[in-house]
Amino acid sequence: MYDPSKKIRLLMELRRAGINDTAVLSAVESVPRDMFVPDAFRDRAYEDTALPIACGQTISQPYVVAFMTAALELQRRMLVLEIGTGSGYQTAVLSPLVRRVYTIERQRDLLKEASARFKELKLTNVVTRFGDGFKGWPEVAPFDRIIGTAAAPVVPMNLVKQLTEGGMMIIPIGLTGNQTITRVIRRGDSFEASPLMPVRFVPMLDGTEG
Ligand code: SAH
Repeated sequence: MYDPSKKIRLLMELRRAGINDTAVLSAVESVPRDMFVPDAFRDRAYEDTALPIACGQTISQPYVVAFMTAALELQRRMLVLEIGTGSGYQTAVLSPLVRRVYTIERQRDLLKEASARFKELKLTNVVTRFGDGFKGWPEVAPFDRIIGTAAAPVVPMNLVKQLTEGGMMIIPIGLTGNQTITRVIRRGDSFEASPLMPVRFVPMLDGTEG
């Protein structure tokens, strides 16, 4: 059974690890992570660790989700694009913080399950798309913020172009074994990139499956 003290412990761990944005912490508190992990891992849902989900993918570590969410410096009116819905956990953490979250997933089965969770949790400001996130979502662009939850080998220029001027993307950049969460700010036809934290993510892949 779900034990609320586990979630409180996780929130304390996040604070201790340096997450002090109270809006981000309450967003994490509002999301039942146990709904986003496979049954076999339910008792570990509130451990600060990444866990396997279907299709060989992972639900990100809560600390990394909180870190990336805080790094986005979100404001209520913002439109956010997420590449890599996966379980939908990061999407659900973003949902209470902004106007709308557009999220793209390339594995049809994962997107189906995540969409069912959004419906059950009544996250009515989440819009999903099955597709290749490298293409972005040109019909809705520009976005104030973009978050990548899979690692791209280099900064994807196609996504930079879908940011507002001065808009920000937080995304792991690099090849497996050498990835860095990076802050990318759009400046006209170019961008500024700053490394934030070394990480391990699954790779962003071309095309779709399922
Ligand atoms: N935010 C997710 C993390 C899932 S792992 C969570 O918290 O559960 C990263 C996800 O990115 C995987 O589901 C993978 O299928 C997806 N992905 C990889 N490349 C992609 C692409 N080009 N477009 C869309 N999704 C992609």
